[in-house]
Amino acid sequence: MEPSEIHDMIVTKKLNMNKVLIVITIAVVVIASSVTAGIIVSNKRKEKMLASMVQENAQTESNMQTEEENPQNDTQENISQGESNVGEGNQSQNQNIPVYSENAKNKIKNMYAPDENGKVAYLTFDDGPSDKITPQILDILKEQNIKATFFVLGSRAELYPELVKREYEEGHFIANHGYSHVYTSVYASPQAVLDEYNHTDRIIKDALGKEEYSGHLFRFPGGSEGGKYANVKNDAKKILEENNVSYINWNCLTNDAVGKPTHDSIINDLKSTSNGKERLVVLMHDTNAKQLTVDTLLENINYLRDQGYVFKNFYDIMK
Ligand SMILES: [Zn+2]
Repeated sequence: MEPSEIHDMIVTKKLNMNKVLIVITIAVVVIASSVTAGIIVSNKRKEKMLASMVQENAQTESNMQTEEENPQNDTQENISQGESNVGEGNQSQNQNIPVYSENAKNKIKNMYAPDENGKVAYLTFDDGPSDKITPQILDILKEQNIKATFFVLGSRAELYPELVKREYEEGHFIANHGYSHVYTSVYASPQAVLDEYNHTDRIIKDALGKEEYSGHLFRFPGGSEGGKYANVKNDAKKILEENNVSYINWNCLTNDAVGKPTHDSIINDLKSTSNGKERLVVLMHDTNAKQLTVDTLLENINYLRDQGYVFKNFYDIMK
């Protein structure tokens, strides 16, 4: 073989090698981009699915909220009078780790019992976080120097971990509203309730980057009482308690998730459901559809302040 032939062969081989490399590179790029596109599409789809699930359940929850508004249900929460010494002010930001003691457990059970602290309001926001509404609520709370409690959904916290982190870093209490908010899933069995709690607890820890954070506080989607799943809920309460988890409903609400609320209906419902109560747990929502909750928040805060309420969150109990 002539040297030139050898040279030609080497060149041909090199060309072939280059062709192979180009083909491999193209294949890798195509696979990578389709995987990325797939992830984006599936995330979008997941979010859409979850949004529609939450919406699906909104009406049912609304019915429960109306029930909760009933003073008879309040009495249920008020079983015994309590002690309790809820301190003023919050701990410094970023370092809040709930302490779940017997004392804290009793205080939550006797949440609405008047005490020497006078009128106290706990603002609570359910079903978030959401990218449109949660940041606006956080801005108002910061401006007003109010620390609130967010009952986050695991399925939402997973999508917006940075918002859960912001809530925490700005001094708010991160509590647990389960993962799916789909009644057939969360109330499939008492164990399913605990599973959703634990799943969400995991997501919260990851969002905060704090393994030691656990809120020990659950709010049943739709409330803890009555309805189609009353038996499951009752059994779930026992399982939650065995696992050091308390639950809390509300005794005051704006009905911001009921039917088609208006600015006035939200203001009026807060006034009527807070009337005559020493201690308030106020139910609101920070899902994307709740612009009215944002638009009425300052007015509601001012009203409660005028009525003599001091704002606290669950760190004041779990400390
Ligand atoms: Zn809810």
